[in-house]
Amino acid sequence: AAEKKFSAEVRDDNPYSRLMALQRMGVVDDYESIRFKSVAIIGVGGVGSVVAEMLTRCGIGKLLLFDYDKVELANMNRLFFRPEQQGMSKVEAAKQTLEGINPDTQIIPCTYNITTTDVWDTFSADLCMGGIDGRTPIDLLLCCVDNFQARLTVNLACLTYNIPWMESGVAENAVSGHIQLLLPGTSPCYECCPPLVVATGLPEAKRVGVCAASLPTTMGIIAGFLSQNTLKYLLNFGTVSEYVGYDAMNDHFPMISIKANPECRNDTCRSRQAEYAEKVAECGEAAHPL
Ligand code: ATP
Ligand code: ZN
Repeated sequence: AAEKKFSAEVRDDNPYSRLMALQRMGVVDDYESIRFKSVAIIGVGGVGSVVAEMLTRCGIGKLLLFDYDKVELANMNRLFFRPEQQGMSKVEAAKQTLEGINPDTQIIPCTYNITTTDVWDTFSADLCMGGIDGRTPIDLLLCCVDNFQARLTVNLACLTYNIPWMESGVAENAVSGHIQLLLPGTSPCYECCPPLVVATGLPEAKRVGVCAASLPTTMGIIAGFLSQNTLKYLLNFGTVSEYVGYDAMNDHFPMISIKANPECRNDTCRSRQAEYAEKVAECGEAAHPL
């Protein structure tokens, strides 16, 4: 059996004690609850793989990894994957590395294209029963894909099953990126405000035949923001950011707060907004999920 590297026992040689120190220092009330959290990562590329490693090293209970692609040598200007993993599926390669880092984190490989219509039921079941106990939904979904269609599928699934999620992106020129929190009914859904997408220069429709630029630095920074926001959300400390942009040319980090669009073209988004409005009418501020 794999050695338990992250046991709750407080010992100097146990990485968990360093994390538990956050609790002793009053940053987090209950750090240990991270062991009971389950997060889905869609896209295990330049951003998703780094987020997976960070959360594994933080002692997360369970990660569901979604990606249909294989590791290529062309991926070596990013972090995480190694040349000898070339040809392996990204998800299997990630599972191997992550289990070696922390055997207490359960890694569930999901090696399919989430936009294919005939996997919708599988995708739905994976999200709705992906919780730590295998019966309840995942606690959070992180979208780390590089295309619009996959983001729309994530948006639809998260609205349908009421799953909180965070979106991330790095621009084709590799010098800007963003993270965004999407709480169904409360904050905007991915279809609520397309102008934001345009304004921040997201690689919307990937141009065919154009080799996009990528930098491990920009991807690592975005992965760091996404992982940090995930910890804050799951462990309930600090302020969970709604949107953080990153402009590498000027080291500028625009932060904005956006409301859901009452005229969103997505019907499910509008009904989630109505549900939330009802809750607010009933219990005021306490209705907010954060
Ligand atoms: P590049 O395209 O530049 O070679 P990449 O494909 O690794 O790099 P990244 O931005 O690093 O792109 O990562 C995005 C990841 O999201 C990829 O691994 C890709 O396979 C995955 N992905 C994109 N769309 C889907 C989808 N529909 N289902 C599952 N995984 C997806
Ligand atoms: Zn919407």
